[in-house]
Amino acid sequence: MATRHCASVIHRIQASKLINARGTFTPLGVSRSSPGVAAAAAAALSEFALLDDMQTAASAAIARMSGAEAGTVVHCTAAAITLAIAATMTGTSPERVAALPDTSGMRHRVLLPATHTVNYGHPIKQAVRLAGATPVVVGTPERCGVGDLLTELAHRDTACLLLVSSRLVQGEGPDLTAAAAAAHAHGVPVVLDGAAQDFLVRQLLTTGADILLISAQKYLAAPTAGLLMGRTDLITAVRAQEKGIGRGMKATKEAIAGVMAALAEREALDVSAWAAARARMVEHFSARAERLPGLTAWSVPDPTGLPFTRAHIRVDPSGARLTAWELAAALRTGNPQVWVMEHRAEAGELVFDLAALRADEVDTILERLAACLE
Ligand SMILES: *Cc1c(COP(=O)(O)O)cnc(C)c1O
Repeated sequence: MATRHCASVIHRIQASKLINARGTFTPLGVSRSSPGVAAAAAAALSEFALLDDMQTAASAAIARMSGAEAGTVVHCTAAAITLAIAATMTGTSPERVAALPDTSGMRHRVLLPATHTVNYGHPIKQAVRLAGATPVVVGTPERCGVGDLLTELAHRDTACLLLVSSRLVQGEGPDLTAAAAAAHAHGVPVVLDGAAQDFLVRQLLTTGADILLISAQKYLAAPTAGLLMGRTDLITAVRAQEKGIGRGMKATKEAIAGVMAALAEREALDVSAWAAARARMVEHFSARAERLPGLTAWSVPDPTGLPFTRAHIRVDPSGARLTAWELAAALRTGNPQVWVMEHRAEAGELVFDLAALRADEVDTILERLAACLE
């Protein structure tokens, strides 16, 4: 009932159906929750709740999932970046928490490899500046090694080192484990943005990161939330920001309830069976797409090691009578609208993320492809 009502709001606003083969893309609504996750969030909406108790339960669930000492939930990963940086500058000092974003008298330089100065909708540097900190970009967009970081780590006023792990990363960044060890040798904590890496949290924490950040609404498919996990003292200092700049970045009860349900579903998931089923779907898609005029298709594993593949399609304009850009635009403007990844379109390639799609939706994409190439 509740689900049907929510769906009708979207259908009233949006005339045509939308199939998202573009991955966990914020402007498209990021992901779809399971019925169990949706029900948990919906049930929370009509109840009062002790938010502290919900955060305590979430901390235990996040710790179990990740192996970290503690965890907490905030509004999203962009908020988590700002609040993790704030935590490294203020600790739990109420005066310091109240003073932000004025960082007078606090260590406020935040080292960021130039290879990691990504833009996920806004520049990550702005998420750092929102806390009142000063991002210090190290190295070049082509390369930042541990040696480059060591030079800057010698500054006494360095608060924290921020590293990002995602397919947005450009060039050759520092080895995460070596970078964390170098930062620790200078008493500098490490914040690791692993927004879409929810399948890999245990592995990412073995780098020595003091806090790891994950978006709950990406492949975990929970309501929008940012999960922070790591050292208890830093997580406590993140929570202290609730009485400061974190007020506008808080997690809602429905988000925490949805996150708890999504974490329970992930714990129960047989990841290798799921991965095998997803891989078969990509193979089926590629094999069928390959038969269409001007297309070559193949599967590519996720570059950061997430347990699924994506379909890559090369568009030969002489056979397809369309460029990759034109085919993407045609798919997007039809009914249902189909959105695909266009970051390789310049090279004549379109990428299809099918991880969240049903078999009937994959078949619809193939029908739309065939119609565009007629
Ligand atoms: C998506 C993303 C973010 C932002 O996450 P939100 O939860 O949408 O705020 C930050 N960093 C990276 C690398 C991302 O991919």
